[in-house]
Amino acid sequence: MILRKQTRLIHVGGLPVGGGSPISVQSMTNTDTRDVATTLTQIERLQDAGCEIIRVAVLDQEAAAAIREIRENILIPLIADIHFDYRLAVAAMENGAQGIRINPGNLGGPEKLARVVDAAKLHKVPIRVGVNSGSIEKDLLKKYGYPSEDNPTALIESALRNVRLLEDQGFEEIKISIKSSDTLTTISGYQQLSKLTDYPLHFGVTEAGGLIAGTVKSSVALGILLHQGIGDTFRISLTRDPVEEIRVGFELLRSLKIRERGPELISCPTCGRTQIDLFSIAEEVERYVQTMAKPIKVAVMGCVVNGPGEAKEADIGLAGGNGVGIIFKKGKLYKKVKEDDLLDTFLRELKKIEEATDKA
Ligand code: SF4
Repeated sequence: MILRKQTRLIHVGGLPVGGGSPISVQSMTNTDTRDVATTLTQIERLQDAGCEIIRVAVLDQEAAAAIREIRENILIPLIADIHFDYRLAVAAMENGAQGIRINPGNLGGPEKLARVVDAAKLHKVPIRVGVNSGSIEKDLLKKYGYPSEDNPTALIESALRNVRLLEDQGFEEIKISIKSSDTLTTISGYQQLSKLTDYPLHFGVTEAGGLIAGTVKSSVALGILLHQGIGDTFRISLTRDPVEEIRVGFELLRSLKIRERGPELISCPTCGRTQIDLFSIAEEVERYVQTMAKPIKVAVMGCVVNGPGEAKEADIGLAGGNGVGIIFKKGKLYKKVKEDDLLDTFLRELKKIEEATDKA
């Protein structure tokens, strides 16, 4: 059993973060925030996939103004990501941003930071102090060296220094992130940071890479941290459609039995016993189950020798034979169908289960 580290509770919009709340999965749009229609389309897809917090980049006043319309048309809390210009942070909050991500030290000094803090207090908006390995202050780099797995101190000190800037202004609705693109630095950094603060932690491996490399790096780092009870909200950072980030995020939580969303798909790798085109069938089934929200177990197996047995806990499964397929439920034979009809029949059965679960 995973024992979560106790952190303070904050709220991003209506969503609790920290304090033992469910670990939330978030993403960031890769659209031009000023293009409201395109940004909304992407956020709607992310919402459907289960995204719980969405962050948008705010590069200018037009983007800050666009926050209002975006916010009015989405269902999940919206965070504005801002660098350097305190006026953008203030404008984003005035326009309804429910959280901001800044690096307090790069906003131009205490007076400008005070304006941001005043707006955050007025609008009840939490601030994420987000530092990256690439943006650490020069004096800290000189003192501690570039962050590494053995010595992530510069990253931690930078975060804590920026947190103190907010605390000095009487502000504590804070979450912290220290991002590195290195898996081991991410792990050691968050392990050490979590001992030094009880603010909720946003975590992830930044610039992790494409689907495969990014998923592996993120899963290793976040998996280890989550298993140690560290972390309150995260983003899987992938050079892909951000919807994939959400899917990977929930699979990661599912694999650690922390949270479940949507069906779990078990599929065999195929071998010399496979006599049907399992890859195509598995692909179609995967596409379909991604539209389902209920956490049922679905199995797609290549043969009847091991298939049903291997997936006996599945609510529904199929196993290939010679020109036929067997549909089984809870590991027991349910129906035998011709290979040509297998996929359609199986999708119909899935739909039935979904509708029955909906009514239950
Ligand atoms: S379920 Fe059957 S086809 Fe699939 S890997 Fe196992 S033995 Fe091979």
